[in-house]
Amino acid sequence: MSLKPPQTLHLTPGKRVLFLTKDPELIRRQLAGELDLKMEDLTVDDLLDDINTDVMTPAWVCFNHRPEDLAREAYAGLIVDGERLFERDALYGGDFEVIVSGHRKGVGSSRETAVQAEKWSGIKIAVAASFAPIHAANNINQGVLMTDHETLQRLQAGDGVPLEEFYREYDPITQLIVRHGGLFPLAKSVARKEIEWPANNTESRPMTMAEKVLARHALGARDRCVKPGDSLVVEVDGGYSHEFTTAQVQYFLEQEHGTDYRIEAAGRFAVFEDHLIYADEVPRMRPFMDKIERLRELQVEFQRHTGVQDFSAKDGVSPGICHEVAREVLISPGDFIQATDSHTCMGGCNNALAWGVGATEYANLIHSGFTTVEVPESIRFELVGRLPEGVTAKDLMLYILLEFARPQMTLNRVMEFTGPGIASLSMDERATLTNMATECSARGAIVEADEETYRWIEQRRPEIDGVELRQRAVEADPEAHYDGGVHTIDLASIQPMVAHPGDPDHGVPSDPTNGALVEEVDEVAIDIAYGGSCTAGKIDDLIFYHQVVAEAVEAGLTVARGVVFLIQVGSKSVEKYCRENGFMETFAKAGVTVIQPGCGACIGCGPGVSENDDQVTVSAINRNYKGRSGPGKLYLASPLTVAASAFTGRITAYRPGMFLQEQPQTI
Ligand code: SF4
Repeated sequence: MSLKPPQTLHLTPGKRVLFLTKDPELIRRQLAGELDLKMEDLTVDDLLDDINTDVMTPAWVCFNHRPEDLAREAYAGLIVDGERLFERDALYGGDFEVIVSGHRKGVGSSRETAVQAEKWSGIKIAVAASFAPIHAANNINQGVLMTDHETLQRLQAGDGVPLEEFYREYDPITQLIVRHGGLFPLAKSVARKEIEWPANNTESRPMTMAEKVLARHALGARDRCVKPGDSLVVEVDGGYSHEFTTAQVQYFLEQEHGTDYRIEAAGRFAVFEDHLIYADEVPRMRPFMDKIERLRELQVEFQRHTGVQDFSAKDGVSPGICHEVAREVLISPGDFIQATDSHTCMGGCNNALAWGVGATEYANLIHSGFTTVEVPESIRFELVGRLPEGVTAKDLMLYILLEFARPQMTLNRVMEFTGPGIASLSMDERATLTNMATECSARGAIVEADEETYRWIEQRRPEIDGVELRQRAVEADPEAHYDGGVHTIDLASIQPMVAHPGDPDHGVPSDPTNGALVEEVDEVAIDIAYGGSCTAGKIDDLIFYHQVVAEAVEAGLTVARGVVFLIQVGSKSVEKYCRENGFMETFAKAGVTVIQPGCGACIGCGPGVSENDDQVTVSAINRNYKGRSGPGKLYLASPLTVAASAFTGRITAYRPGMFLQEQPQTI
């Protein structure tokens, strides 16, 4: 499917350029063939920012695992006034070869389908002021060129642009991928010994935690030092895919290597059944159940064919959300982990380096056992003090999203969490920090290991060698350089936060960086309170929910009239903890619905999704992109705020003892 690009790029006569403008009418007229715009007619400010991958290929579109099928529904998630702006085949049949947007194209989930939908619609060049890191990597791996608005202006003026201008900013290995037209063509050239990987010759230097992990995994130059921008070929300790992505991995492996392909070191990799486990409970998903069933079957076929570890559902119950189970049983300090999901970064709480990759990259790495990496820059957060009562790691993360991610200080960097304040955070709270690195558009996140790290892992894996565990941990060198700076955060200064849903229909995206103090938010009545997902379905999150619910029950309250409160556990071990500690009885008394492990409403595929535009949800999940968890408005908040709001009926920060001191008005 991928062809080597020519040495000089020209626009193809008869092919078109599509500008994704903030004004939906301009998009509508371009799609209808009534308007051909030029870059000189517009400014970058006229173009849509923060186009997220859920908009490009919403979850239901990804039920098509063949790229040629999902391309027909490209941008199905771009909804204006309740209607699809891109009807079926709008991009596919529009003869476009360039697509243009504003800042941060491709934020959100790591789904490579977003790139495939454009590529298989005929797009050869994506133009934007900046691209989300995983999305950019997916473009590169799929052989889609990326450039800026100035270059587009030259192309539209009829100039030829040398291919070199599309890759010269990249590291040497990424340059090779672009020049070959994608990752698979390059991997084949390497297998045929037509090219050699560039050597890494970085001299001895102090390193960050992420740099140390990568240096240790570099093939051919193990234990040499590395620095940001170095190109490496690295060994991968492990990884996983889930039923939403595995079928594509299988598809690409068969396309590239034939149906009798084999993968290296199958025991290090795994499949999970977690994302679509309750899709049949969402009326909007029912038309897709055949496709979902096919995805499940294809994952089973893949697991049997390859022999990777199997975390399939048993009797319709998932063992848990992949990232939660992976940190419990698979990921160890010092590991380098790659999986087909943007929240793979959650594994960084175990002092590992982990990030999400697309199906192409994953298929390539499990086939070969290695992958290519450009060493990322780092940003360091030194945590001091202790969070006040009623404040959680989710509030800290919403604060970091507002103060550091919004001004792009975390963009494409590894977020390193260190300092004495770490000791005051449980492993589950540390996991909230690393989980939401992807909302910060960071490459990943890693937490310094301490005795609590080892205790937590050893408790779950009694067979593990504790000495080796400690030896594999990484810590930053005292003089390590942080391009993103070193930032001290006093945990005592953090207050309950929300991220509000913006006004997407009028160009203000619903975004996790829309932070605000709960006390600053006007009275917001809610319809749904949802506690769950990989970021908020851990044991400590359930303890938070239970703390509030128990207080409310003691005060004689039940969930507010007109509100549904759903809690979904992250894994079977979390569920077991809740049962053993009597949580389920408390939840039942309050009228809380408890759901078995899985992703569920977080991805619009389970109980708790909104059903119309007017509904308001307060949710402890990690992202509030419009449409992801139903059509309504979604506020992100901590587990404590979600639970307190469920009883007051409006977004409310939790204060210990609040229900006993004053009886809230129910709405
Ligand atoms: S819970 Fe949500 S964010 Fe986490 S892996 Fe599942 S779908 Fe992704």
